[in-house]
Amino acid sequence: MELYELNLNDVIEGLKAKRFSPSELYASCKQRIDTCEPNIHAFITRTDDTQPQTGNDGGIFAGVPTVLKDNLCTKGIRTTAASRILGDWKPPYDATAWKYLREAGAVLMGKVNMDEFAMGSTCGNSAFGPTHNPHDISRVPGGSSGGSAAAVSAGYVPFSLGSDTGGSIRQPASFCGVYGFKPTYGMVSRYGLISYGSSLDQIGPFARTVRDLQLVMSVLAQYDPMDSSCFREKNPDFTHREDVSLKGKRVALVKEFQDFTLDAPIAEAMTRTRKVLEDEGAIIAEVSLPVVARYAVACYYALAMSEAHTNLERYDGVRYGYTVTDAAGVKEMFERVRSYGFGSEVKSRIIAGTCLTEPSRCDEYYVAATKVRTLIAQEFARAFGETDYILQPVTPSLPHRIGEEDEDEMKVYETDLYTLPVNLAGLPGLSFFTGYAGNLPVGLQLIGPRWSDSGLLDAGVILERHLGSPKIANGGI
Ligand code: GLN
Repeated sequence: MELYELNLNDVIEGLKAKRFSPSELYASCKQRIDTCEPNIHAFITRTDDTQPQTGNDGGIFAGVPTVLKDNLCTKGIRTTAASRILGDWKPPYDATAWKYLREAGAVLMGKVNMDEFAMGSTCGNSAFGPTHNPHDISRVPGGSSGGSAAAVSAGYVPFSLGSDTGGSIRQPASFCGVYGFKPTYGMVSRYGLISYGSSLDQIGPFARTVRDLQLVMSVLAQYDPMDSSCFREKNPDFTHREDVSLKGKRVALVKEFQDFTLDAPIAEAMTRTRKVLEDEGAIIAEVSLPVVARYAVACYYALAMSEAHTNLERYDGVRYGYTVTDAAGVKEMFERVRSYGFGSEVKSRIIAGTCLTEPSRCDEYYVAATKVRTLIAQEFARAFGETDYILQPVTPSLPHRIGEEDEDEMKVYETDLYTLPVNLAGLPGLSFFTGYAGNLPVGLQLIGPRWSDSGLLDAGVILERHLGSPKIANGGI
Protein backbone atom coordinates (compact mmCIF):
# COMPACT_ATOMS: atom_id res chain seq x y z
CA MET A 1 0.00 0.00 0.00
CA GLU A 2 1.25 3.48 -0.88
CA LEU A 3 1.13 6.28 1.69
CA TYR A 4 -1.25 8.36 -0.42
CA GLU A 5 -3.84 5.58 -0.09
CA LEU A 6 -4.08 5.97 3.70
CA ASN A 7 -7.17 7.52 5.21
CA LEU A 8 -6.82 10.54 7.46
CA ASN A 9 -7.01 8.61 10.72
CA ASP A 10 -4.34 6.13 9.54
CA VAL A 11 -2.16 8.99 8.38
CA ILE A 12 -2.39 10.65 11.78
CA GLU A 13 -1.62 7.40 13.62
CA GLY A 14 1.22 6.48 11.26
CA LEU A 15 2.85 9.87 11.68
CA LYS A 16 2.45 9.76 15.43
CA ALA A 17 4.02 6.30 15.62
CA LYS A 18 6.78 7.48 13.24
CA ARG A 19 6.05 4.64 10.79
CA PHE A 20 6.71 7.24 8.09
CA SER A 21 7.70 10.89 8.07
CA PRO A 22 5.68 13.93 6.95
CA SER A 23 8.03 14.36 3.99
CA GLU A 24 7.56 10.73 2.85
CA LEU A 25 3.80 11.22 3.02
CA TYR A 26 4.07 14.54 1.20
CA ALA A 27 6.21 13.00 -1.53
CA SER A 28 3.72 10.15 -2.01
CA CYS A 29 0.76 12.54 -2.37
CA LYS A 30 2.75 14.79 -4.69
CA GLN A 31 3.67 11.82 -6.86
CA ARG A 32 0.03 10.76 -7.02
CA ILE A 33 -0.97 14.29 -8.04
CA ASP A 34 1.74 14.41 -10.73
CA THR A 35 0.52 11.08 -12.12
CA CYS A 36 -3.22 11.78 -12.22
CA GLU A 37 -3.53 15.53 -12.60
CA PRO A 38 -3.17 15.57 -16.40
CA ASN A 39 -6.35 13.43 -16.48
CA ILE A 40 -8.28 15.03 -13.62
CA HIS A 41 -7.41 18.72 -13.61
CA ALA A 42 -8.52 19.33 -10.04
CA PHE A 43 -6.12 22.19 -9.30
CA ILE A 44 -6.33 25.86 -10.06
CA THR A 45 -3.17 26.67 -8.09
CA ARG A 46 -0.63 24.15 -6.82
CA THR A 47 1.37 25.09 -3.74
CA ASP A 48 3.25 21.82 -3.45
CA ASP A 49 6.36 22.93 -5.28
CA THR A 50 8.13 23.85 -2.10
CA GLN A 51 8.81 21.56 0.83
CA PRO A 52 6.00 21.74 3.37
CA GLN A 53 6.25 24.03 6.29
CA THR A 54 5.41 21.43 8.88
CA GLY A 55 2.94 23.77 10.52
CA ASN A 56 2.28 23.06 14.12
CA ASP A 57 4.18 19.91 15.01
CA GLY A 58 1.98 19.27 18.01
CA GLY A 59 -1.35 19.75 16.19
CA ILE A 60 -3.63 16.83 15.37
CA PHE A 61 -3.08 17.31 11.62
CA ALA A 62 0.69 17.87 11.86
CA GLY A 63 2.11 17.08 8.42
CA VAL A 64 -1.22 16.08 6.83
CA PRO A 65 -1.65 17.31 3.24
CA THR A 66 -4.91 18.91 2.18
CA VAL A 67 -6.47 21.07 -0.53
CA LEU A 68 -9.06 23.84 -0.33
CA LYS A 69 -11.83 24.89 -2.66
CA ASP A 70 -10.67 28.07 -4.35
CA ASN A 71 -13.32 30.23 -2.69
CA LEU A 72 -11.58 29.90 0.69
CA CYS A 73 -9.18 32.76 1.30
CA THR A 74 -5.54 31.85 1.85
CA LYS A 75 -3.21 34.61 2.93
CA GLY A 76 -0.76 35.50 0.16
CA ILE A 77 -1.92 32.63 -2.07
CA ARG A 78 -3.97 33.35 -5.19
CA THR A 79 -7.69 32.79 -4.57
CA THR A 80 -9.89 32.96 -7.66
CA ALA A 81 -13.36 31.47 -6.98
CA ALA A 82 -12.70 30.04 -10.49
CA SER A 83 -13.46 33.47 -11.95
CA ARG A 84 -11.49 35.73 -14.25
CA ILE A 85 -12.70 38.72 -12.26
CA LEU A 86 -10.49 37.96 -9.28
CA GLY A 87 -7.42 37.79 -11.51
CA ASP A 88 -4.36 37.02 -9.39
CA TRP A 89 -5.91 38.38 -6.21
CA LYS A 90 -4.01 37.28 -3.13
CA PRO A 91 -6.08 37.64 0.05
CA PRO A 92 -4.50 39.52 2.94
CA TYR A 93 -5.93 37.02 5.43
CA ASP A 94 -6.83 33.34 5.89
CA ALA A 95 -10.37 32.00 6.03
CA THR A 96 -11.01 30.92 9.62
CA ALA A 97 -11.65 27.30 8.56
CA TRP A 98 -8.21 27.18 6.96
CA LYS A 99 -6.64 29.02 9.89
CA TYR A 100 -7.93 26.33 12.26
CA LEU A 101 -6.59 23.55 10.03
CA ARG A 102 -3.26 25.29 9.57
CA GLU A 103 -2.95 25.78 13.32
CA ALA A 104 -3.64 22.06 13.71
CA GLY A 105 -0.64 21.42 11.43
CA ALA A 106 -2.27 20.72 8.04
CA VAL A 107 -0.14 21.32 4.95
CA LEU A 108 -1.66 22.99 1.88
CA MET A 109 -1.09 21.25 -1.48
CA GLY A 110 -3.13 23.80 -3.40
CA LYS A 111 -6.40 25.45 -4.30
CA VAL A 112 -8.87 23.41 -6.28
CA ASN A 113 -11.41 23.89 -9.02
CA MET A 114 -15.07 24.75 -8.67
CA ASP A 115 -17.93 26.28 -10.58
CA GLU A 116 -17.37 30.04 -10.77
CA PHE A 117 -18.45 31.62 -7.47
CA ALA A 118 -19.89 28.19 -6.57
CA MET A 119 -22.72 28.53 -9.08
CA GLY A 120 -23.28 25.19 -10.73
CA SER A 121 -23.34 21.44 -10.29
CA THR A 122 -20.65 20.17 -12.66
CA CYS A 123 -17.41 22.08 -12.05
CA GLY A 124 -17.77 23.01 -15.72
CA ASN A 125 -18.61 26.69 -15.06
CA SER A 126 -14.98 27.41 -14.23
CA ALA A 127 -12.79 29.98 -15.97
CA PHE A 128 -10.03 27.37 -15.66
CA GLY A 129 -11.75 24.56 -17.58
CA PRO A 130 -13.56 21.49 -16.25
CA THR A 131 -12.40 18.92 -13.69
CA HIS A 132 -12.89 15.25 -14.59
CA ASN A 133 -14.42 12.51 -12.45
CA PRO A 134 -11.58 10.27 -11.16
CA HIS A 135 -13.78 7.18 -11.63
CA ASP A 136 -14.47 7.92 -15.29
CA ILE A 137 -12.67 10.89 -16.76
CA SER A 138 -15.29 11.34 -19.47
CA ARG A 139 -17.77 12.33 -16.73
CA VAL A 140 -18.30 15.34 -14.49
CA PRO A 141 -17.12 15.20 -10.87
CA GLY A 142 -20.15 17.21 -9.77
CA GLY A 143 -20.10 20.68 -8.35
CA SER A 144 -19.60 23.19 -7.35
CA SER A 145 -16.86 21.72 -5.10
CA GLY A 146 -15.80 19.28 -7.84
CA GLY A 147 -12.06 19.80 -7.35
CA SER A 148 -12.27 19.11 -3.61
CA ALA A 149 -14.21 15.86 -4.18
CA ALA A 150 -12.00 14.70 -7.06
CA ALA A 151 -8.81 15.34 -5.05
CA VAL A 152 -9.94 13.08 -2.20
CA SER A 153 -11.40 10.47 -4.55
CA ALA A 154 -8.19 10.22 -6.61
CA GLY A 155 -5.99 9.93 -3.50
CA TYR A 156 -4.28 13.32 -3.79
CA VAL A 157 -5.03 14.11 -0.15
CA PRO A 158 -6.87 12.30 2.67
CA PHE A 159 -9.32 15.18 3.16
CA SER A 160 -10.31 18.51 1.70
CA LEU A 161 -12.69 21.40 2.27
CA GLY A 162 -15.53 22.61 0.10
CA SER A 163 -18.59 24.80 0.52
CA ASP A 164 -22.27 23.95 0.14
CA THR A 165 -24.92 26.54 -0.72
CA GLY A 166 -27.44 24.19 -2.29
CA GLY A 167 -25.63 20.84 -2.49
CA SER A 168 -22.10 21.70 -3.55
CA ILE A 169 -20.43 19.39 -1.02
CA ARG A 170 -22.95 16.55 -1.03
CA GLN A 171 -23.46 16.18 -4.77
CA PRO A 172 -19.77 16.04 -5.84
CA ALA A 173 -19.06 13.72 -2.87
CA SER A 174 -21.65 11.32 -4.20
CA PHE A 175 -20.46 11.65 -7.83
CA CYS A 176 -16.83 11.01 -6.82
CA GLY A 177 -17.51 8.25 -4.29
CA VAL A 178 -16.37 9.93 -1.06
CA TYR A 179 -18.12 11.19 2.06
CA GLY A 180 -19.12 14.83 2.20
CA PHE A 181 -20.63 16.70 5.10
CA LYS A 182 -22.63 19.93 5.06
CA PRO A 183 -22.78 21.10 8.69
CA THR A 184 -25.66 22.97 10.33
CA TYR A 185 -25.67 26.63 9.22
CA GLY A 186 -23.56 28.44 11.82
CA MET A 187 -21.51 25.38 12.84
CA VAL A 188 -18.42 26.41 10.86
CA SER A 189 -17.25 30.00 10.52
CA ARG A 190 -17.77 31.47 7.05
CA TYR A 191 -15.19 34.19 7.62
CA GLY A 192 -12.97 34.27 4.54
CA LEU A 193 -15.33 32.19 2.41
CA ILE A 194 -16.05 34.13 -0.78
CA SER A 195 -19.78 34.71 -0.48
CA TYR A 196 -22.37 33.35 -2.91
CA GLY A 197 -25.65 33.18 -0.94
CA SER A 198 -24.62 34.21 2.56
CA SER A 199 -27.73 32.87 4.30
CA LEU A 200 -27.16 29.45 2.66
CA ASP A 201 -23.37 29.02 2.39
CA GLN A 202 -21.63 26.61 4.71
CA ILE A 203 -18.10 25.13 4.71
CA GLY A 204 -17.58 21.40 5.21
CA PRO A 205 -15.19 18.48 4.69
CA PHE A 206 -14.70 15.64 2.18
CA ALA A 207 -12.99 12.41 3.24
CA ARG A 208 -12.88 8.67 2.49
CA THR A 209 -14.32 7.55 5.85
CA VAL A 210 -16.92 8.99 8.20
CA ARG A 211 -14.41 8.85 11.03
CA ASP A 212 -12.20 11.20 9.02
CA LEU A 213 -15.10 13.63 8.65
CA GLN A 214 -15.43 13.55 12.43
CA LEU A 215 -11.74 14.39 12.82
CA VAL A 216 -12.02 17.39 10.50
CA MET A 217 -15.24 18.58 12.11
CA SER A 218 -13.61 18.46 15.54
CA VAL A 219 -11.21 21.14 14.28
CA LEU A 220 -13.63 23.19 12.16
CA ALA A 221 -16.53 23.46 14.61
CA GLN A 222 -15.20 26.18 16.86
CA TYR A 223 -16.73 29.52 17.61
CA ASP A 224 -15.34 32.45 15.63
CA PRO A 225 -16.11 36.04 16.62
CA MET A 226 -15.42 37.07 12.99
CA ASP A 227 -18.68 35.41 11.81
CA SER A 228 -21.77 36.74 13.56
CA SER A 229 -23.82 33.74 12.38
CA CYS A 230 -21.41 31.33 14.08
CA PHE A 231 -22.72 29.35 17.09
CA ARG A 232 -21.66 30.42 20.56
CA GLU A 233 -22.39 27.25 22.50
CA LYS A 234 -19.76 24.92 23.83
CA ASN A 235 -17.92 23.09 21.01
CA PRO A 236 -19.83 19.97 19.95
CA ASP A 237 -18.21 16.59 20.54
CA PHE A 238 -17.20 14.83 17.32
CA THR A 239 -15.24 12.05 19.02
CA HIS A 240 -15.41 8.84 17.01
CA ARG A 241 -17.23 6.02 18.78
CA GLU A 242 -17.75 2.46 17.58
CA ASP A 243 -20.46 1.62 20.13
CA VAL A 244 -23.11 3.75 18.47
CA SER A 245 -26.53 2.36 17.68
CA LEU A 246 -29.60 3.21 15.64
CA LYS A 247 -31.81 0.93 17.69
CA GLY A 248 -35.22 2.52 18.09
CA LYS A 249 -34.27 5.58 16.04
CA ARG A 250 -36.74 6.69 13.43
CA VAL A 251 -35.51 7.23 9.89
CA ALA A 252 -38.09 8.66 7.50
CA LEU A 253 -38.49 8.72 3.76
CA VAL A 254 -40.19 11.76 2.24
CA LYS A 255 -43.66 10.86 1.03
CA GLU A 256 -43.76 13.35 -1.85
CA PHE A 257 -40.36 12.24 -3.18
CA GLN A 258 -41.65 8.69 -3.76
CA ASP A 259 -43.36 9.85 -6.97
CA PHE A 260 -40.15 11.13 -8.57
CA THR A 261 -38.05 8.87 -10.75
CA LEU A 262 -34.51 7.90 -9.84
CA ASP A 263 -31.80 6.16 -11.87
CA ALA A 264 -32.08 2.42 -11.14
CA PRO A 265 -28.80 2.18 -9.13
CA ILE A 266 -29.93 5.03 -6.87
CA ALA A 267 -33.36 3.48 -6.28
CA GLU A 268 -31.62 0.19 -5.56
CA ALA A 269 -29.25 1.91 -3.09
CA MET A 270 -32.27 3.37 -1.29
CA THR A 271 -33.74 -0.12 -0.87
CA ARG A 272 -30.44 -1.58 0.32
CA THR A 273 -29.81 1.23 2.80
CA ARG A 274 -33.31 0.98 4.15
CA LYS A 275 -32.69 -2.72 4.82
CA VAL A 276 -29.40 -1.93 6.60
CA LEU A 277 -31.20 0.57 8.82
CA GLU A 278 -33.94 -1.94 9.64
CA ASP A 279 -31.36 -4.62 10.45
CA GLU A 280 -29.74 -2.10 12.81
CA GLY A 281 -33.02 -1.75 14.68
CA ALA A 282 -34.11 1.58 13.20
CA ILE A 283 -37.78 2.19 12.52
CA ILE A 284 -38.50 3.25 8.94
CA ALA A 285 -41.13 5.96 8.87
CA GLU A 286 -42.53 8.47 6.43
CA VAL A 287 -42.77 12.26 6.64
CA SER A 288 -44.68 14.61 4.42
CA LEU A 289 -42.91 17.72 3.04
CA PRO A 290 -45.36 19.15 0.50
CA VAL A 291 -44.02 22.72 0.48
CA VAL A 292 -40.47 21.46 0.06
CA ALA A 293 -41.42 19.18 -2.83
CA ARG A 294 -43.42 21.87 -4.61
CA TYR A 295 -41.59 25.14 -3.93
CA ALA A 296 -38.05 24.55 -2.62
CA VAL A 297 -36.27 24.78 -5.99
CA ALA A 298 -37.93 28.06 -6.99
CA CYS A 299 -37.52 29.47 -3.49
CA TYR A 300 -33.82 28.55 -3.36
CA TYR A 301 -32.96 30.00 -6.76
CA ALA A 302 -34.85 33.22 -6.04
CA LEU A 303 -32.95 33.67 -2.76
CA ALA A 304 -29.57 32.44 -3.99
CA MET A 305 -29.65 34.72 -7.04
CA SER A 306 -30.85 37.71 -5.00
CA GLU A 307 -28.07 37.26 -2.47
CA ALA A 308 -25.52 36.59 -5.22
CA HIS A 309 -26.35 39.79 -7.05
CA THR A 310 -25.72 41.79 -3.87
CA ASN A 311 -22.59 39.87 -2.90
CA LEU A 312 -21.07 40.18 -6.35
CA GLU A 313 -21.57 43.95 -6.52
CA ARG A 314 -18.16 44.36 -4.92
CA TYR A 315 -16.34 43.14 -8.06
CA ASP A 316 -16.07 46.51 -9.73
CA GLY A 317 -12.54 46.55 -11.12
CA VAL A 318 -11.34 48.71 -8.24
CA ARG A 319 -11.06 46.52 -5.21
CA TYR A 320 -10.12 43.10 -6.58
CA GLY A 321 -8.00 41.49 -9.25
CA TYR A 322 -8.99 42.08 -12.86
CA THR A 323 -9.37 45.65 -14.11
CA VAL A 324 -9.00 47.82 -17.23
CA THR A 325 -7.02 51.04 -17.22
CA ASP A 326 -7.99 52.61 -20.54
CA ALA A 327 -11.74 53.07 -19.98
CA ALA A 328 -13.29 56.43 -20.87
CA GLY A 329 -15.02 56.65 -17.50
CA VAL A 330 -16.12 54.73 -14.48
CA LYS A 331 -19.27 53.37 -16.10
CA GLU A 332 -17.32 51.96 -19.02
CA MET A 333 -14.80 50.46 -16.62
CA PHE A 334 -17.54 48.69 -14.63
CA GLU A 335 -19.11 47.44 -17.84
CA ARG A 336 -15.95 46.12 -19.35
CA VAL A 337 -14.64 44.57 -16.14
CA ARG A 338 -17.91 42.83 -15.33
CA SER A 339 -18.68 41.77 -18.92
CA TYR A 340 -15.31 40.10 -19.37
CA GLY A 341 -14.64 39.16 -15.75
CA PHE A 342 -17.75 37.07 -15.08
CA GLY A 343 -18.73 33.91 -16.94
CA SER A 344 -22.18 33.49 -18.48
CA GLU A 345 -23.85 31.55 -15.62
CA VAL A 346 -22.73 34.14 -13.08
CA LYS A 347 -23.91 37.00 -15.28
CA SER A 348 -27.32 35.46 -15.85
CA ARG A 349 -27.75 34.97 -12.08
CA ILE A 350 -26.69 38.54 -11.32
CA ILE A 351 -29.26 39.79 -13.82
CA ALA A 352 -31.98 37.51 -12.45
CA GLY A 353 -31.11 38.53 -8.87
CA THR A 354 -31.26 42.20 -9.81
CA CYS A 355 -34.73 41.73 -11.30
CA LEU A 356 -36.01 39.69 -8.36
CA THR A 357 -35.03 42.36 -5.83
CA GLU A 358 -35.83 45.42 -7.91
CA PRO A 359 -38.15 47.66 -5.80
CA SER A 360 -41.29 47.19 -7.91
CA ARG A 361 -40.96 43.37 -7.89
CA CYS A 362 -39.27 42.75 -4.56
CA ASP A 363 -42.42 41.92 -2.59
CA GLU A 364 -43.69 39.58 -5.25
CA TYR A 365 -40.44 37.60 -5.61
CA TYR A 366 -37.69 38.11 -3.04
CA VAL A 367 -39.92 38.80 -0.05
CA ALA A 368 -42.29 36.00 -1.08
CA ALA A 369 -39.34 33.60 -1.29
CA THR A 370 -38.21 34.52 2.24
CA LYS A 371 -41.72 33.66 3.48
CA VAL A 372 -41.72 30.33 1.66
CA ARG A 373 -38.35 29.65 3.21
CA THR A 374 -39.85 30.09 6.67
CA LEU A 375 -42.60 27.62 5.76
CA ILE A 376 -39.97 25.16 4.59
CA ALA A 377 -38.02 25.50 7.84
CA GLN A 378 -41.25 24.98 9.79
CA GLU A 379 -42.14 21.95 7.69
CA PHE A 380 -38.77 20.36 8.50
CA ALA A 381 -39.11 21.27 12.18
CA ARG A 382 -42.47 19.49 12.25
CA ALA A 383 -41.04 16.48 10.42
CA PHE A 384 -38.19 16.25 12.93
CA GLY A 385 -40.77 16.16 15.68
CA GLU A 386 -41.79 12.79 14.20
CA THR A 387 -38.45 11.38 13.07
CA ASP A 388 -34.77 11.47 14.00
CA TYR A 389 -33.35 11.42 10.48
CA ILE A 390 -34.51 11.64 6.88
CA LEU A 391 -33.02 9.35 4.23
CA GLN A 392 -33.10 10.59 0.66
CA PRO A 393 -31.12 10.60 -2.59
CA VAL A 394 -28.49 13.24 -3.30
CA THR A 395 -29.37 13.46 -6.99
CA PRO A 396 -31.87 11.66 -9.23
CA SER A 397 -29.11 10.44 -11.56
CA LEU A 398 -25.48 9.36 -11.74
CA PRO A 399 -22.85 11.76 -13.16
CA HIS A 400 -23.35 12.56 -16.83
CA ARG A 401 -20.66 12.95 -19.48
CA ILE A 402 -18.80 16.24 -19.72
CA GLY A 403 -20.50 18.39 -22.33
CA GLU A 404 -23.83 16.57 -22.06
CA GLU A 405 -25.55 18.91 -19.66
CA ASP A 406 -29.19 19.60 -20.25
CA GLU A 407 -29.68 22.74 -22.34
CA ASP A 408 -32.73 23.60 -20.26
CA GLU A 409 -31.47 25.60 -17.25
CA MET A 410 -34.58 24.89 -15.18
CA LYS A 411 -34.05 21.12 -15.60
CA VAL A 412 -30.49 21.52 -14.34
CA TYR A 413 -31.72 23.53 -11.34
CA GLU A 414 -34.34 20.89 -10.57
CA THR A 415 -31.67 18.23 -10.07
CA ASP A 416 -30.82 20.09 -6.84
CA LEU A 417 -34.22 19.23 -5.36
CA TYR A 418 -32.77 16.74 -2.85
CA THR A 419 -29.94 18.93 -1.61
CA LEU A 420 -31.05 22.56 -1.54
CA PRO A 421 -33.95 22.26 0.97
CA VAL A 422 -31.32 21.34 3.56
CA ASN A 423 -29.65 24.73 3.06
CA LEU A 424 -32.95 26.62 3.09
CA ALA A 425 -33.64 25.17 6.55
CA GLY A 426 -30.02 25.40 7.77
CA LEU A 427 -29.86 21.64 8.44
CA PRO A 428 -26.87 19.30 8.45
CA GLY A 429 -26.62 16.74 5.63
CA LEU A 430 -24.31 13.77 5.17
CA SER A 431 -23.61 12.43 1.68
CA PHE A 432 -22.51 8.81 2.14
CA PHE A 433 -21.14 6.11 -0.13
CA THR A 434 -23.32 3.03 -0.73
CA GLY A 435 -21.38 1.05 -3.37
CA TYR A 436 -20.70 1.05 -7.10
CA ALA A 437 -22.88 0.69 -10.18
CA GLY A 438 -20.32 -0.55 -12.70
CA ASN A 439 -17.40 1.83 -12.20
CA LEU A 440 -19.51 4.70 -10.88
CA PRO A 441 -20.09 5.30 -7.17
CA VAL A 442 -23.60 5.74 -5.79
CA GLY A 443 -24.19 8.04 -2.84
CA LEU A 444 -27.21 8.82 -0.69
CA GLN A 445 -28.00 11.42 1.92
CA LEU A 446 -28.97 11.40 5.56
CA ILE A 447 -30.23 14.62 7.09
CA GLY A 448 -31.06 15.58 10.65
CA PRO A 449 -32.43 18.51 12.63
CA ARG A 450 -30.32 21.60 13.26
CA TRP A 451 -27.32 20.92 15.55
CA SER A 452 -27.67 17.13 15.23
CA ASP A 453 -24.33 17.07 13.36
CA SER A 454 -22.44 14.72 15.65
CA GLY A 455 -25.35 12.26 15.87
CA LEU A 456 -25.67 12.33 12.11
CA LEU A 457 -22.01 11.39 11.73
CA ASP A 458 -22.46 8.59 14.31
CA ALA A 459 -25.25 7.24 12.08
CA GLY A 460 -22.83 7.57 9.15
CA VAL A 461 -20.32 5.35 10.98
CA ILE A 462 -22.97 2.62 11.19
CA LEU A 463 -23.92 2.98 7.53
CA GLU A 464 -20.28 2.79 6.48
CA ARG A 465 -19.79 -0.37 8.56
CA HIS A 466 -22.54 -2.11 6.58
CA LEU A 467 -22.21 -0.56 3.16
CA GLY A 468 -18.40 -0.53 3.03
CA SER A 469 -15.94 2.32 2.49
CA PRO A 470 -15.06 3.66 -0.93
CA LYS A 471 -11.83 2.76 -2.71
CA ILE A 472 -9.51 5.32 -4.26
CA ALA A 473 -10.49 5.93 -7.87
CA ASN A 474 -8.11 4.96 -10.66
CA GLY A 475 -7.73 8.61 -11.65
CA GLY A 476 -7.81 7.78 -15.35
CA ILE A 477 -4.63 5.66 -15.13
N1 GLN B 1 -26.15 23.88 -7.86
C1 GLN B 1 -26.53 24.83 -6.89
C2 GLN B 1 -26.34 26.23 -7.41
O1 GLN B 1 -25.79 26.38 -8.44
C3 GLN B 1 -25.75 24.65 -5.61
C4 GLN B 1 -24.42 25.26 -5.65
C5 GLN B 1 -23.73 25.27 -4.32
O2 GLN B 1 -24.11 24.59 -3.37
N2 GLN B 1 -22.75 26.14 -4.23
O3 GLN B 1 -26.73 27.17 -6.81
